[in-house]
Amino acid sequence: MGTAVLVMIDHPSASHPGAPAHRLVPAGSAQLPVTDVAVTRGDGIFETAAVRDGVVQSAERHLTRLAHSAAMLELPVPDLQVYREAIAEAVGALADSSDAFVKYTLSRGDEENPKGPIGWVYADVSPDHEDERTEGLPVVLLSRGYALDIAQTAPWLLQGAKTLSYAVNKSVLREAKKRGAADVVFTTTDGYLLEGPTSSLVLRLGDTLVTTRPESGILAGTTQEDVFAFAAELGLRSEVRDVRVEELAAADAAWLMSSVRLAVPINAVDGVPKAFDAALTEQINTRLIARRA
Ligand code: PLP
Repeated sequence: MGTAVLVMIDHPSASHPGAPAHRLVPAGSAQLPVTDVAVTRGDGIFETAAVRDGVVQSAERHLTRLAHSAAMLELPVPDLQVYREAIAEAVGALADSSDAFVKYTLSRGDEENPKGPIGWVYADVSPDHEDERTEGLPVVLLSRGYALDIAQTAPWLLQGAKTLSYAVNKSVLREAKKRGAADVVFTTTDGYLLEGPTSSLVLRLGDTLVTTRPESGILAGTTQEDVFAFAAELGLRSEVRDVRVEELAAADAAWLMSSVRLAVPINAVDGVPKAFDAALTEQINTRLIARRA
């Protein structure tokens, strides 16, 4: 029997109220009409958060980011209290919530029979990422096909929203595999570093951790933010700024950071081996794992 749990949110926005707002259903059961725009257009948003010992890590910042993504897509405003309760119901239903994740979604709804938005929370035990955290991953640099000012010049492209349209974020992993790598760092056409397809990029240059500004059309990563919040305790400074492509090769260490996989060191860039800082990586991940809020 699987370990996953599913909570459907039939009324995810106060603009379409109803009771009950959410309900636990069998995780493998069919719930969505094939005409839901989440399925047909990827027209919706999601969040993935880690769960440790039954506690959702960075829970409120994930919810705030969901609301921000909803605003960018002009979706009905998500009722965050309904989401909190649905997430708690899903986490509570897990047989083992010591190292798990919750992925929750807001869809605009059925395009053929419009009844308003719907949402759901899917939770399961987390995959084991220990090898990637200790051994690192080879990455390739791939162009995102636009310049650093994309969020200002073409906001309708929704860069910086966590939409369900992740086909490109998946295709780049296939391209990475063809090139003998396991992950990707996106670059701009004018020579800047952005982020990974499902992670934030953080460099260590001397005693300073550096990451790209969210205003450059990347997702504001909760994991990166948490690491920058405790950087001083590790004797490090932090900077959020535009980062040139050349700085990755020059960096003393680099990581891809995300909620469930945590900080994974980059051990090669475009086939060129890169030294990584195993001790600092372990310190960072120990602190990330210990978060209880
Ligand atoms: N950037 C992108 C494009 C992502 O999809 C993710 C997470 O999935 C991140 C960054 C990292 O965000 P977080 O640290 O909040 O998981």
